Amino acid sequence: MAFINSNISPDWLDGLLVGRQDQPEDTIIEIELPDGSDTVLVGDGSLPVMAGPCTLETREQVLETAMAVKHAGAAFFRGGAFKSRTSPYDFSGLRAEGLELLSEVRRVLNMPVVSEIVNAAHLPLFEDVDIIQVGERNMRNAELLTELSHIDKPILLKRSHSATLKELLLSAEYLLAGGNRQVILCERGIRTFEPMTRNTMDISAIPLLKELTHLPVIADPSHATGLPQLIKPMSMAAAVAGADGLMIEVHTCPDEALCDGGQALVPEEFTELMAKLQGITDFR
Ligand code: PEP
Ligand code: MN
Repeated sequence: MAFINSNISPDWLDGLLVGRQDQPEDTIIEIELPDGSDTVLVGDGSLPVMAGPCTLETREQVLETAMAVKHAGAAFFRGGAFKSRTSPYDFSGLRAEGLELLSEVRRVLNMPVVSEIVNAAHLPLFEDVDIIQVGERNMRNAELLTELSHIDKPILLKRSHSATLKELLLSAEYLLAGGNRQVILCERGIRTFEPMTRNTMDISAIPLLKELTHLPVIADPSHATGLPQLIKPMSMAAAVAGADGLMIEVHTCPDEALCDGGQALVPEEFTELMAKLQGITDFR
């Protein structure tokens, strides 16, 4: 893609692997279905959706949610096993047991899974995770990024709530520089002076990043807004702005969720959203 306005082709991007100078064409990431029968593509112009609870809590919750989001058309099941919580007294995830539940979903539903890593020492536990997420808190963790740059798995890199696009792209550069070119960027909201939403969703980041880099860019309206009623409009806005996918939190019983229940959609709302999105993807 050519730069619409060469003023936004900044000097700092010169020579970077994330830039379009050496690779003008979009990166397309291929994720094989667990049974090997097909692949899911990210970055090919489609809109794959990653959905699931913020935090994996119980086997029943995980399987019920995974079946619901798969039925609604989600391409990936996403759930956190290791959670970086703001308070040390909050639930920090089922850890290895959570990743075992994800392996079960993967096998039983033939659905690729996404989960967040917080420590490179946990990598051996992530063998059955198809896309490894780096959360906004760790976007600046150069040691973790360097470790992940040496593995052969796609990495989903979330923008820190206080990162500029330059900082996000330089974090992604750590992954590419070490040899891992399977990187997906995620806009998940930035912190502004507005207290009505959890963060402010920077929709303009999506088309702008897509000009600056060949990497796929997805959007996470759940963390960006914190408000379930904003997830549908923001998902549609992200889709129209050119997002390569969406990440959406879904919980079967948001009132009882151990983390981020206030922003979760229930499966019925998620199903409605997926139907609405179909209209937009047909139009794109
Ligand atoms: C999450 O994806 O559940 C999460 C904690 O996201 P972020 O790192 O964007 O806050
Ligand atoms: Mn969450």
